[in-house]
Amino acid sequence: FVQIRHAQKSFGTLEVLKDISLNVARGQIVAIIGPSGSGKSTLLRAINDLDALTGGEVWLDGVQVNKKLPHRQYEKHINEMRQQIGMVFQHFNLFPHMTARENVTMAPKMLKGLTAEEADALAEEQLDKVGMLERIDYYPSQLSGGQKQRVAIARALAMKPKLMLFDEATSALDPELVGEVNQVMKKLAEEHMTMIIVTHEMDFAASVCDRVLFMDQGVVVEEGPPEQVFGNPQKDRTRAFLRKEL
Ligand code: ATP
Ligand code: MG
Repeated sequence: FVQIRHAQKSFGTLEVLKDISLNVARGQIVAIIGPSGSGKSTLLRAINDLDALTGGEVWLDGVQVNKKLPHRQYEKHINEMRQQIGMVFQHFNLFPHMTARENVTMAPKMLKGLTAEEADALAEEQLDKVGMLERIDYYPSQLSGGQKQRVAIARALAMKPKLMLFDEATSALDPELVGEVNQVMKKLAEEHMTMIIVTHEMDFAASVCDRVLFMDQGVVVEEGPPEQVFGNPQKDRTRAFLRKEL
């Protein structure tokens, strides 16, 4: 469903991704773990071409995301692809001058031509799903970090994405707010949303993900089901990393 084939990425002379290949089946949930600077965010951003790969291919549901096209056609193509990929970052990137409702309805209105009524109904549905319906008319400045992050998830879901990407969605949160965001991600997992989740939370990865990928220095060192990667890691580097994290 998601295929990354021989992904390679350099910033100047620094090779950040070295021939990474990854397949994610529809409905599968993959966690990416690894030390700071190992290339996790770069890989995630390459999936919707926010960071263009220097080599290799990304495919989603049978369509190549980073295909070679003349500039104008590429812009149209990549915008269509990005609409199918929801992304949630570490730092809540809500529009500060818009309420939760407006944050959620903006893209569906602009990109999918929903009427105000349709978009409102959608916002209510998605904000209810993340437990934020009662704050629908609040501005980001009036919300806690966990609440903002849940609105960000609702906003991504409103586009009905085929794939959700999470880049350390909880690592900027106070510890007591992490659970409410993880709970939303767990719920998505139960609904079989396809997800790729970069996380430092090993317990969460172990409880939610079908597969764990350990990255270090731009390569996938080890991957497998969580029981294996956490319980019986095969590589010294994985063991050393987990000893430090746990
Ligand atoms: P963290 O856990 O700290 O978020 P990460 O695994 O997400 O780390 P990346 O952000 O993917 O790591 O960065 C991988 C490497 O690429 C780092 O050495 C970083 O300095 C480098 N890098 C990332 N973005 C750029 C850029 N725009 N220009 C130059 N180098 C970059
Ligand atoms: Mg990162």
